[in-house]
Amino acid sequence: MNLQDSPLLQTIVDSAPIGICILSAEGFVAEMVNPQFLEIAGKPKASVLGKWYWEPFAEARADYEKALADVVITKKPYYADEVSLRLIRHGIEELIYVTFVYAPVFSDDGAVSKVAVWVLENTDQVREREKMAAASAAIKQERDRLYEFFRQASIGISVMVGEQLTVELVNSNYQEILPGRQLLGRPFFEALPEIKGTHIAEALMQVYHTGIPVEFRDQLVPISQHEHGATTDRYFNFSYLPRFDGEGKVDGIVNFAYEVTSFFQSKLMAQQATSNLEQILNMLPASVVVIKGDDLIVEMINESNLCYWKKNRDEVIGKPFLEILPDLADQPFAGQLRRVMQTGEVIDVKESPVLFTEADGTIRETFVDYTYQPLENLTGTWDGVLVMSFEITDRVQARRLLERYANELSGANDQLSVSNNKLAKSEARFKFLIQEAPVAIGVLHGREFIVETANQKVLDVWGKTSKIIGMPLSAALPELKGQPFLGLLDDVYTSGQAFYANEIRAMLEHGGELKEIFFNVVYQPVAGNDGAVADILVVAVDVTQQVNSRKKVEQAELTMRLAIEAGNVGTWSVDTDTFKQTTSLRLREMFGFNPDVEVSLEDIIGQVSPEYQPQLAAIFKDSAGTGDTYDISFTINRRDDGKLRWLRVLGSRNTVESATQFSFSGVILDITEGKRDEQRKGDFIGMVSHELKTPLTSLKGYLQLLHRKAEKGGDNFATNALENSVKQVRQMTTMINGFLNISRLESGKIHIERTSFELTALLRELEVEHKMLYSSHDLVFHPADEVWINADREKIAQVINNLVSNASKYSPGDTRIDVFCESAEEKVRISVRDQGIGIKQEDIERLFERYYRVENNGLVSGFGIGLYLSAEVIEHHGGKIWAESEPGKGSTFFFELPV
Ligand code: ADP
Repeated sequence: MNLQDSPLLQTIVDSAPIGICILSAEGFVAEMVNPQFLEIAGKPKASVLGKWYWEPFAEARADYEKALADVVITKKPYYADEVSLRLIRHGIEELIYVTFVYAPVFSDDGAVSKVAVWVLENTDQVREREKMAAASAAIKQERDRLYEFFRQASIGISVMVGEQLTVELVNSNYQEILPGRQLLGRPFFEALPEIKGTHIAEALMQVYHTGIPVEFRDQLVPISQHEHGATTDRYFNFSYLPRFDGEGKVDGIVNFAYEVTSFFQSKLMAQQATSNLEQILNMLPASVVVIKGDDLIVEMINESNLCYWKKNRDEVIGKPFLEILPDLADQPFAGQLRRVMQTGEVIDVKESPVLFTEADGTIRETFVDYTYQPLENLTGTWDGVLVMSFEITDRVQARRLLERYANELSGANDQLSVSNNKLAKSEARFKFLIQEAPVAIGVLHGREFIVETANQKVLDVWGKTSKIIGMPLSAALPELKGQPFLGLLDDVYTSGQAFYANEIRAMLEHGGELKEIFFNVVYQPVAGNDGAVADILVVAVDVTQQVNSRKKVEQAELTMRLAIEAGNVGTWSVDTDTFKQTTSLRLREMFGFNPDVEVSLEDIIGQVSPEYQPQLAAIFKDSAGTGDTYDISFTINRRDDGKLRWLRVLGSRNTVESATQFSFSGVILDITEGKRDEQRKGDFIGMVSHELKTPLTSLKGYLQLLHRKAEKGGDNFATNALENSVKQVRQMTTMINGFLNISRLESGKIHIERTSFELTALLRELEVEHKMLYSSHDLVFHPADEVWINADREKIAQVINNLVSNASKYSPGDTRIDVFCESAEEKVRISVRDQGIGIKQEDIERLFERYYRVENNGLVSGFGIGLYLSAEVIEHHGGKIWAESEPGKGSTFFFELPV
């Protein structure tokens, strides 16, 4: 028996979905092996073919060596169904599941000559286990049958010669067809009389006569077991081939016979029309189709393939492939089939999409793994293709779905992790926010108001420590009992409405003492997963300080208002943007307006005596602009009775909130009474001075007379005493004149009598007089250019006299006093410089005020009116007076007059 004798069988073996390896019975050397076997084994062909079987499969030897050996001894096959095998495949140890058979193959003598190893890997079939299990059972069954077939199949050969067709050669296989019957040496029809007269005999004779061979397939040959016995129906494949002699004449017939009876006995009765091969193929889980010739005629097809094509057998057998499936014309299959037939190459494609157009026009997308194996005909050319394919649409779709799910999942995972991350971050941020918030924040959970979160600020406000976290609010702050807060929180909890309050007052225990605390608070309900209020967020700002300081301000305002009322002071303020003013009732009263009606600034200024109006308006403007304080007295004519009143206004601009926002306000006092007193005093002084002047003048006259008389009489003592007396009287006269001038000044009666005179001439006169008067000092009048001025000569002389008098009064004796006169283009400047005690800066500014005297200016007596009067005189002349000094180093007094 030689399997390779049938090319189709060889191809089937090679492209069978199961692994096949044929071993010699002695020595178990692998003589034939198909690719599937090598693939399952995971070994290269060279390491299996021609090798002792247990060399490549050392790892399985321990388990199966005996079973293999037993097959030869017992002549019985060994089956291993779905066993696990630890195999080293492609260098990697793997646990695989296989079904395999060690099947004995018998030789002529009935001895086991070969052992066939059939192996099917089940590892990948886990998902379709049941289907595969059924299939493998079918395969196993079929394999058994095949095995039987192989075991029984034998090709008998006989040679008949001569007209008598005498049997010349009979091989053991042939003999086996007719065991015990004498064939050799006998004429054919004598040995097999039952053939005689049949069409087989006829055909045989025809071959002998014509030389044309005949072939019978599945031919029924009624034949008896023993000569002359009853015939039985037996089936054979056989051929009669002419044997030619040296001259080309037929001299005998070679008969190849192959009994297929047992095959038929089992198959034919059940399925006459279907070939054994188709049966096997139909059992396969793979789709199989045999396509022949250029037209791609479908010659054979199994059920699985029909199912895949959605066709029945009649629609496809004997039809061209593209006629059956015209929608595959633009897909690569027809081209590939023709290529295989042209080149003999094997095409193996994995996961190829195949698109079918369904009856309703929709596209059915399928996926297959397929192999195109070329089929050789008798002449050795390829004229057909064995197509084996596995539909894996479900697997591909499942995988695609899986990939999509995996993608989606990983996408979702990514998102999840991103949002998780975000969540974690935002949670952390939230916590950080709460802890670091500059306001008090707490979270109260549930109806019990469990303190779930409380930042340091809220703990500070509550006067508690973090120990209260986890406690109900009523227990954490027991002092809240009787206060409105728990009730308010409860309302928020039931209504779901936030609660806001400003400057709400709470009594909270801080370190054992109840403390009054004011705060602005928000109770914000926070919904839980079910939408109902789960927590309340408490945000509070402690405003106790603000409230307290505002209360203080309010208190201060009240005190001030009371003081203002008590002092009978009028108040007013002006908006610096709109210049709209507000006045107090008292102010309106002072000006003689209806106290109940607000008045305008113009109305008020209208009541001011005209001579004060510009001054007042200017000060208002300046003070509003510069922010200087101001203090000015002025007269008004009351609106209602027209009476003259003296008022004094004091105030300043206040910066309110920003540097550009001001309030300009002040108070007004009625000083009429004070003014009147002053006037009375002035009148009195004026009157007294005036009254004193006349007796003093005569006193001075008498004293001068006495002085001259004593001089003549040489009475030195009397001369000196009288000279001093005259000096004193002169001083007194000056003083009284001063008082007189003041009273005149105040009543507005000061009189400037301007004449045009030459100043240096006046200075020369004064030099003579003063040198005598102030002989205690070194008086130096510096010469100057002639300069004419238009002024009150006597009063200018008084001013100079006053300055020189002060210089001598406030500097030690024998020091120098300089009098300068410098004239420029339009003015003349006179200055008096001494080396005296000097004046502090802060005093310099006030020297020219009435009655102002520097404190601690020694024992020098005076009234503080000399410089006041001097300034008045100079200002009445349109000039200016000032002083420069440094304490301890002396002073210089200047005045300037227009020329
Ligand atoms: P009286 O000299 O009568 O006090 P004045 O009005 O003349 O009044 O001067 C005011 C004050 O100015 C004086 O009290 C004195 O303190 C100060 N004073 C005036 N002149 C001088 C000066 N030359 N040196 C130092 N202090 C002076």
